[in-house]
Amino acid sequence: MAETLVKIAAQHASHDSHPALDSHGGGESMHGSTRMVGPSAFDAYHAPEKDLLRECVHCGFCLSACPTYSLWQDEMDSPRGRIYMMRQASEGAISLSGSFQVHIDNCLGCMACMTACPSGVKYDLLLEATRAQMEIKVPRSLLDRLYRRMLFATFPHPKRLKWMAMPLGLYQKSGLQSLVRRSGILKLIPARLSSMEALMPAAPAKSEPLPAFLPAQGKSQMRVAMITCCVQSVFFPNVNAATARVLSAEGCDVVIPQEQGCCGALMTHTGEEKEGLVFARKLIEKFEADPVDRIVINAAGCGSTLKEYGHLLRDDPEWAERARAFSEKCRDLSEMLTELKPRAKRHPLPIQIAYHDACHLQHAQKIRKEPRQLLGGIPQLGLREIPDASMCCGSAGVYNLLNPATAKELGERKVENLLSTGAEAVVSANPGCLLQLASSLRDRGIHMPSFHTVEIIDAAIRGVSVKELLDSRQ
Ligand code: SF4
Ligand code: SF4
Repeated sequence: MAETLVKIAAQHASHDSHPALDSHGGGESMHGSTRMVGPSAFDAYHAPEKDLLRECVHCGFCLSACPTYSLWQDEMDSPRGRIYMMRQASEGAISLSGSFQVHIDNCLGCMACMTACPSGVKYDLLLEATRAQMEIKVPRSLLDRLYRRMLFATFPHPKRLKWMAMPLGLYQKSGLQSLVRRSGILKLIPARLSSMEALMPAAPAKSEPLPAFLPAQGKSQMRVAMITCCVQSVFFPNVNAATARVLSAEGCDVVIPQEQGCCGALMTHTGEEKEGLVFARKLIEKFEADPVDRIVINAAGCGSTLKEYGHLLRDDPEWAERARAFSEKCRDLSEMLTELKPRAKRHPLPIQIAYHDACHLQHAQKIRKEPRQLLGGIPQLGLREIPDASMCCGSAGVYNLLNPATAKELGERKVENLLSTGAEAVVSANPGCLLQLASSLRDRGIHMPSFHTVEIIDAAIRGVSVKELLDSRQ
């Protein structure tokens, strides 16, 4: 182990010219020697906690689970290496700029390392605190700043997304999109822009707006509120409609607060904590207006942030308790449906599907068995397991828009594994994953229909045929 850590330090020296890297003196280091502990590179407010950093015993069990380590075999792009760098920064041995920023930016935030870690290291809290400080303290290039601003100015705003959906529909339906994709012009523009084009969802078909309230079918078991999610509500309204129908069919009175804002997940995961918390407070307030037993979310990435509100707002005297109460009520849809127990009859759905675990469901929320149990409960449905299921598909929030080359490699690997299952369709619980998979499949010239888990459950409850289901994706 000591040998490995010496190697990490050597790698630091070769990657980061910060003079503090070479400073040694008093104080305990991670590899047992002593060195000067200088002022932390982090501000005191919400710095990565030293006790949490010390929980990593450098065993390396997380290495093979980490997508970036599996791609590059570079210790600094492993969870152990990143934690080591955070600790060095907290001891004042390195700054948050240079290679530190590069390796933290490279992290997908997929949390596969947390699932693999036998010591229970809370990498999510460490990463979140690190990114929040990095965004404040380390300036980014003008282009990077502008690009990030553009993402944050669109994705968390359903109204702006709706405006974008109109020209997008024109671009797709006029045939311009196929022309552009065939022309090879996308190879000539910056990778971030071409990845944005490749990941564009299909313009949504016209759909009925969701009602503010949908009563339970039969005797009500519970009163739940539904989070509609920004991207989901605009580009996948069918998923939200299916969610409301299934909850109602399973005995829930469903409250759907109108004009919901963003949950702030996008900003929180990328270090824009302050902005993320503004959204969080507004959403809490919105959902306090009509008290419910549970708050249900059908998007994995948003769900993990909603469950963290209590922690994110822990220091805010006005909001800490309200955030904790909100988070306590939050359930992923698959958790909710498992808790309710199936009430509505499931009709046979003879189809072979591959279930793709979204990282923010399987690693961040530890939800793996519930979706499988729900899908497995549908008569005649065949559930195929994707090899190497714990590995990220490269979507990771807006990671595929910020780091397109890495995301592409991971997408290709995932699709290889997906195709090996021989499934007719792929199912997941995160819009970002479904878009990433569709783009990687398209790169191979393959169209595989994709669905949210709840669309399959809804189809089984409504007795939709496999043909109708597959035709809905043509
Ligand atoms: S994060 Fe966990 S698994 Fe990885 S090196 Fe540290 S203790 Fe070991
Ligand atoms: S969050 Fe994912 S990419 Fe980041 S260190 Fe952990 S396993 Fe690796």
